[in-house]
Parts: sequence; structure tokens; C-alpha cells
Amino acid sequence: MFEKILIANRGEIALRIQRACRELGIKTVAVHSEADRDAKYVKLADESVCIGPAPSSQSYLNVPAIIAAAEVTDAEAIHPGYGFLSENADFAERVESSGFVFIGPRPESIRLMGDKVAAKDAMKEAKVPCVPGSDGALPDDPDEVLRIARDVGYPVLIKAAGGGGGRGMRVVHTEAALLNSVEMTKAEAQSAFGNPMVYMERYLQKPRHIEFQVLADEHGNAIHLGERDCSMQRRHQKVMEEAPAPGLDAKLRDRIGERCADACRKIGYRGAGTFEFLYEDGEFFFIEMNTRVQVEHPVTELITGVDIVQEQLWIASGEKLRYKQKDIEFKGHAIECRINAEHPYTFVPSPGRLTTWHPPGGPGIRVDSHVFAGYMVPPHYDSMIGKLLAYGKTRDQAIARMRGALMEMAVDGILTNIPLHQDLMNDRAFQEGGASIHYLEQKLAAEKAKA
Ligand code: ADP
Repeated sequence: MFEKILIANRGEIALRIQRACRELGIKTVAVHSEADRDAKYVKLADESVCIGPAPSSQSYLNVPAIIAAAEVTDAEAIHPGYGFLSENADFAERVESSGFVFIGPRPESIRLMGDKVAAKDAMKEAKVPCVPGSDGALPDDPDEVLRIARDVGYPVLIKAAGGGGGRGMRVVHTEAALLNSVEMTKAEAQSAFGNPMVYMERYLQKPRHIEFQVLADEHGNAIHLGERDCSMQRRHQKVMEEAPAPGLDAKLRDRIGERCADACRKIGYRGAGTFEFLYEDGEFFFIEMNTRVQVEHPVTELITGVDIVQEQLWIASGEKLRYKQKDIEFKGHAIECRINAEHPYTFVPSPGRLTTWHPPGGPGIRVDSHVFAGYMVPPHYDSMIGKLLAYGKTRDQAIARMRGALMEMAVDGILTNIPLHQDLMNDRAFQEGGASIHYLEQKLAAEKAKA
């Protein structure tokens, strides 16, 4: 195992990685921007290095500064967390060519999954079920495009091969609108992602977002840790997640999970990863793979007892997977609410100084957050200030505990989305389980219309 690693991230995930390291006796180097100088986790790290001014383009995305920090502190490996450089294949390559271990997949895997057309091809090859659509990128011939769309069936979705973050997509309902939409999406893809390639998928009308967590080592072993339901979304951003997915058949879980693990073996995947699917009418359709640890990983940790960040460290150090599939048992139910510094209904960010921070506790409650009373939420980064998790033997118990925890939690000085989560815990459709990815936006629109 490593003696010292550098954490190339900030906020709650920087603290989460630091905690995993502390438990394993690994020393940590925190890199930080000028805006994060006074963060507690920076002080708690064994060493810290300022890598630039507040804007992330000059600090958390500043590759030479991060590599230099690893050099001066003699760190052996770099953990990228999520966001920032975590899915940047060039960065992973730079880390390795500079003599450090990248705590994540091989750069080739990141590159493969970053090209959605190539990723889908690889998944079809590995027999992972995909959304029906064009075979690879759309051709230039308009007649061909029209024919493909007729085969796929309207409505169709035009997606950019290089897209990400919910951008570069367009729904087309009629043949009359198709060719124009394809051209517009291509032009946008070219200017936003530098790659005009687009492909087509059937547009699913009321899917759920269900994703599978995997772990794979460099020795050809791979397992899955079950699924998470992340259907509560706004503008393709996840708001709340849970595991397991309500009502999902255990046999189907095992079958899809095994397909994902198998795909990892086939592509030589290494590290933690997530296969994202849309789920509709009892069927799974692969949409993309995330080659990093995810915000919502703790719900899986709570129901499996596996520390995903520690496993990332073991895998990166060259160990064989410490679990076999039969060691993984799913127990109970876990829910995560993302706590954001924002207006609960307009979603306008609300940075500023926290005057009160009173996190809840008690049986089954976990809080992953780097903030404290007196902390200044900087305006430069993502608005998430922490994650509140509730675990229960049953889903009902997890909901009851979450409701209590949200009530206990006190945050002053800034606005948060806690009232929205309270609303959701009391929402009938959420309580029943299995709402689609459109549910939250429809609910918000309906409430706005009433007000
Ligand atoms: P990104 O990398 O931009 O997140 P994804 O392929 O993961 O792109 O798609 C983002 C979101 O768009 C999904 O979570 C889902 O809400 C929606 N989406 C993607 N593909 C489809 C589809 N074929 N049908 C319906 N909705 C889709």
C-alpha cells in the first residue's frame, strides 16, 4: 500500500478520501486554491500545497501545478476524486508518465468511455443491453438518416459522441424536424466539444435512472456492488439517490450486474466505475460509463459494507480484489440527499458564510461534509456542501430516519435545498418508489403553477 498520496480535489470528496487514507495509515497531501486555504480538511491533511487562485481553471484543473505539488511532497499516487480532472485521459497519462500512480482506470479506458459512440460499441460487444439506435455515428447521407430514424421509431434523441453533463442532446418527435435537428446538434457539438459526431437513440419516455457500481483489479477480476436509483433529477443533475432500486427483481439485478462485471473484464477495466442505465418496463438500457468514484457512492457502501474509496486505493496499489462476488450481500436500504447551497425552489446558488451548522445524528445517519459553522461557502465551485445519508433495515425506516435527520439539521447564513428534500420525503410518488427521471421536474412545475 502507498505511504503518501495527493488528493487532487476539494470539498467533501477531498475529506472523504482523506478519511479513507487515515484509516489505512496513508499520509495525505491536500492541494487547494486560494479560496480553500482555510478549509478544515486542508489543515487536517499531513501536508498542503496551494496550487493557484480561486477559479478552478487556474487551480483544480491546473495540471502542471498538481504534478509539481506531487513532486515536492514526494507523493506516490494521485486521487482525482470526481469532477475536475477525474475523467481526463490526458491528465491520467501525465500522472503516470511523471512517475506517479493514477488512482483510477487506465487512460485508454477513460478515453474509450469519453467517446460515447465507441463506449456503446464496446458495451454491445460485451453484451450489455443498450438503447436501440443508430449503429455508431450518424452518416452524412440524409436519406440514410431518415431511414435509421424510421427503424428506431419516433421520438428519437440525437446525442453528441463527445457530450457530457446532460449537454449536446436534442429530442426529435417528427420526421419533418429530423434533418434540421441533426444539423443543429452537430454544429453545437462541434463548438461545445470540438467533435461534430452525433448518434441516434430511441427516446425513452418515462425511464428511471438506475446505475451499477463495479470494482475491477488489474489482474482480470471484477465484481458488481449492486445498483442505485438516481431518478430524482433536475436538469439532468441528481438531487437524491437510493440503494437498492425500489421494486427491482433480484434475479435481474444479478444478471445485469454480472454483465457489467463481465464488460470490465473484457475491456481490461481497472478501479471503481459506474454503468449508467435507463430502466423502463422491466428492461435496462446502457447510456454511459463513469470512470471514477461518484457523489452517490455512499449509499452502496451502506448496504454492502464495502468502503469503495479504500478499494480504489487497494486496486491502485496493485492488489487483487479483496472481495469475490459471493462475498457481497445487500442488506437494508440507504438514501442520500445532496445538500446544496442554493434556493430550494429557484435553485439560484447561495454562497456565503455559514453562521450555524448543526448536522443531525443518531442510528443510521451519516453526514459527509467538509463545512462547519463559520465556514465561507465560496462562489467559485459546485454548490454542494455535503451529503446526508440515512440507512434503515427497510426503505420505510430509511425514509423515517431521513425525515427526522432533515428536521434536526440546522443551517443558517445561507439558503439550502433542505426544504425540497423534506418535501420529497413526504411525497406520495417518492414514498411508493419507482418514479421516472421526469418526476421531480414535473412536480416542481406543477407546484409553481399552483403558487
Ligand atoms: P451525459 O454524459 O450528458 O450525462 P447521458 O447519456 O448520461 O449524457 O444522458 C444524460 C441524461 O439524458 C440521462 O440521465 C437521461 O435523463 C437523458 N437521456 C439520455 N439518453 C436518453 C434516451 N435514449 N431516452 C431518454 N432520455 C435519455
